[in-house]
Amino acid sequence: MGNMVYLKNVATLAMDTTKCTGCGLCLDVCPHNVFKMNGKSAKIADRDACMECGACSRNCPADAISVQSGVGCAAAVINSLLGRNGGECCCGPQTDSSSAPRSGGCCG
Ligand code: SF4
Ligand code: SF4
Repeated sequence: MGNMVYLKNVATLAMDTTKCTGCGLCLDVCPHNVFKMNGKSAKIADRDACMECGACSRNCPADAISVQSGVGCAAAVINSLLGRNGGECCCGPQTDSSSAPRSGGCCG
C-alpha cells in the first residue's frame, strides 16, 4: 500500500528507541510502512502516514511503541468491518433529527 498522509503532525505515535530490540515486528504489522530499520533498531520514518490502528504497539515485545488507538475514523472503520458497536464515524452525515452539536468526536 502506498504511503498515505492523513493530517500532518497529529498522530500520537511515539517510540522509545532505547527499548527497541530490533526485532522488526513493527515493520511487518504496520499497514502504512511507518517504520524503517535504522541499524539495529527501528525508527519512525513517516509519522504522518500513521492511522493509529495500534497494531505496532500491541505487537511490540519490548513495549517500545505507544499510540493512542481506538479513536476516530480508523476505529470506526475497523469496528464497522468487525460488526461491532462504534462503527459510526462522526465525519458522516448526522442521521438523527437533533441539531445539537457533536462533540468529543474525531472531527471536533
Ligand atoms: S516491534 Fe518493538 S522491539 Fe521490535 S523493532 Fe519494532 S519497536 Fe523495536
Ligand atoms: S498505529 Fe498502525 S498505522 Fe500507526 S505506526 Fe502503528 S501499525 Fe502503523
